[in-house]
Amino acid sequence: MTDFKSLQEEMVTQQIMGRGVVTPRVIEAFRKVSRHLFIPEQFRSHAYNDHPLPIGEGQTISQPYMVALMTDLLDLTEEDKVLEIGTGSGYQAAILAELAKEVYTIERHRALAERAKRILQELDYKNVKVLVGDGTKGRKEFSPYQKIIVTASAPGVPQPLFEQLDEMGKLVIPVGGRWSQDLVLIQKKKGEMISKPVCGCVFVPLIGEYGYGGSD
Ligand code: SAM
Repeated sequence: MTDFKSLQEEMVTQQIMGRGVVTPRVIEAFRKVSRHLFIPEQFRSHAYNDHPLPIGEGQTISQPYMVALMTDLLDLTEEDKVLEIGTGSGYQAAILAELAKEVYTIERHRALAERAKRILQELDYKNVKVLVGDGTKGRKEFSPYQKIIVTASAPGVPQPLFEQLDEMGKLVIPVGGRWSQDLVLIQKKKGEMISKPVCGCVFVPLIGEYGYGGSD
């Protein structure tokens, strides 16, 4: 039997805290959510390794450290309404749900969205709503969002997402070319976009009207 609890603790201390993400609330969430439950059976033994893993439909669950860094950059509070673009496995959504009031998460692949929804329901997350569709358009009816996280790479910040971000809200997104990007932290101040590059990264593409055209 794999000792997932020990592997999870090693992931938290070595990959996440060891690289500088040490915010107590964030660390608590990573200790609480069992990453292996979001990973397809055949890759489960690698769940706590320091890299992304396949989740089907040609998509990936991001490297644990990248999930932690993006989460930390958002400065989540218990009052926040969060929008996530790219539900994928549902793991990031579960972490967000531990730290915020409400989470809306959009996935373009129905099969992934349904799988994530089932796992999140089994784990009893009542504050997450999984939606299917083109996340580059956001979901205006639930806006404004205090925080937005885009977990796929875009050629630029999709305009509807910036519009749906609350004043003083924060948005984190990988921006750049198809094969390498910069992780960028955006803040809305007096309606203006204040943008700060954080580090280099590599994400699967954001496919949609305000992302990359075509299909993956
Ligand atoms: N956050 C996910 C997790 O915790 O497993 C990882 C996400 S994966 C790196 C990126 C996801 O974005 C993929 O599942 C992909 O299908 C999705 N995606 C790409 N373009 C999208 C769009 N326009 N709207 C919604 N989801 C999109």
